[in-house]
Amino acid sequence: MNNFDLAVIGSGIGGSLISLMNKDKNLVLFEKDKNLGGTASTFKRFGNYFNTAATTFVGYEDNNIIKDIFDSVGFIPDIKESSCAYRTIINGKTIDRKRDFEDFLDSLNSVFYHKNNRYFWQTLKDIDERFWGLKDIYFAKHSLNSYFKTLKTIETLFKEYKFLMFKTANSFIKDILGDISKEYEDFIDAQLQITLQSTSKNIPLLSFAIALSYPFHKVFYPNGGMGKLFDDMLKDINLKRNEEIKFIKKEKNSYRLISLKDEYIASKVVLNIPVFECSNIFLDEDIKNYYKKFSFYDQSAFVIYLKIDSKEDFLNHYQIILKDIIPNTVSKSFFVSFSSKDDKKLSQNGYSVTISCHSKAIVWSEMSKIEYENKKEFTKNYILEEFLRNFQNIKKDDIKIEFCATSKTFKRYINRFNCGSSPLNLNNILKIPSCTTPFKNLYNIGDSVFAGQGWSGVALGVKVLNSNLI
Ligand SMILES: Cc1cc2nc3c(=O)[nH]c(=O)nc-3n(C[C@H](O)[C@H](O)[C@H](O)COP(=O)(O)OP(=O)(O)OC[C@H]3O[C@@H](n4cnc5c(N)ncnc54)[C@H](O)[C@@H]3O)c2cc1C
Repeated sequence: MNNFDLAVIGSGIGGSLISLMNKDKNLVLFEKDKNLGGTASTFKRFGNYFNTAATTFVGYEDNNIIKDIFDSVGFIPDIKESSCAYRTIINGKTIDRKRDFEDFLDSLNSVFYHKNNRYFWQTLKDIDERFWGLKDIYFAKHSLNSYFKTLKTIETLFKEYKFLMFKTANSFIKDILGDISKEYEDFIDAQLQITLQSTSKNIPLLSFAIALSYPFHKVFYPNGGMGKLFDDMLKDINLKRNEEIKFIKKEKNSYRLISLKDEYIASKVVLNIPVFECSNIFLDEDIKNYYKKFSFYDQSAFVIYLKIDSKEDFLNHYQIILKDIIPNTVSKSFFVSFSSKDDKKLSQNGYSVTISCHSKAIVWSEMSKIEYENKKEFTKNYILEEFLRNFQNIKKDDIKIEFCATSKTFKRYINRFNCGSSPLNLNNILKIPSCTTPFKNLYNIGDSVFAGQGWSGVALGVKVLNSNLI
């Protein structure tokens, strides 16, 4: 029985959420890796568990798509709310991104006092709240009707935001805060790196507001690692783990999926593979050519994994901002996530720590193995030195395990060189891939298509995709 109504390829956030929403259908979900969740998975190495990249879970609250999706299928995630989204450390000064607006403002004003801080941050928070309150966001480009519905969404946004929609982040900063210090600018830009992998120079106010406002939402720690959410979510799904789909061939009214283990026929196919990696998989020239037209968006990550033996208490997340760009990356900052002390799985032999910052795939390509290993080691040591300088209660000897990953590692395990979506703006809105394709019953989902990255961005795309699958 290898015939399915729906085949989903990849168990990242996109593939898993769409599978969950369609779990009553004759569905199969393929995952090449042994761990579920892709960029948001948890893996075991040297007898210990580590989160691969994503560590924060946001969006499980009323009026948010993630909660709507989970509620609609009766899934309750095993999570606990973090006391603070993250603590930023910049030149020895700390600012806590607390959910409570007044607490955050006090913390911010103690480092970067500005008389217009309240207006600035309140406006961003309002823009964000209004966005998540909008119900009918749609984005697809496969037919006249889909273009029409997409334009209606732009009209809805325009009605909601009027001319704010055309304002850039940069001009908003200038208008409200004027010429701010380099440090304050770095503080803002480093936070945009977390959610948008961009700076305030080239993004619209709408994306800016949504990206900077995520700490005003509930931020959760997934017990047992981010990957456990996927194990729990997918426990009743027909799942083929450790099975990579190598080739797909379009047939008359279906698609033939070929793995090294077997062949399958599916009426509808959802690819949770970044669009840049899809052309290789198809045997049909027209589909290959469709995917070739998406130019590679080179944004990736450099990630360090640590096991730390320490009795100290830590918040779940920190952001460390440095004066200069970290070698072999595109970032002046790195994000540090500690496992919770009471997490029996991740904190079994000490804290499990994931440190990440942004790099590019090209930085790690075309060099000998020795050059690559040296470059990795150098980058890791540079970041670790800064890490120890900022966490003086951790000593070098407390670090019991250390290793790192580049875009090459991500390609090997989860089939993607790029990690991150290009931020939406009015210039690229019609160039961003949508979940629909020109080919009947063939779809994409994940952070390389609308709406973007992270739990909420990918889930927004899933909602649009699901309306097309029905
Ligand atoms: C360093 C870093 C930190 C981040 N931190 C956060 C965070 O804290 N919170 C947050 O919300 N977001 C975070 N993000 C963003 C978030 O992790 C991603 O946007 C999201 O996980 C991407 O999901 P996706 O649906 O695109 O799937 P992907 O993560 O790309 O997963 C796709 C899956 O498909 C599988 N696959 C690929 N090809 C095949 C094939 N041929 N056959 C079978 N299976 C296949 C892969 O193995 C993989 O498991 C972070 C990203 C990075 C890089």
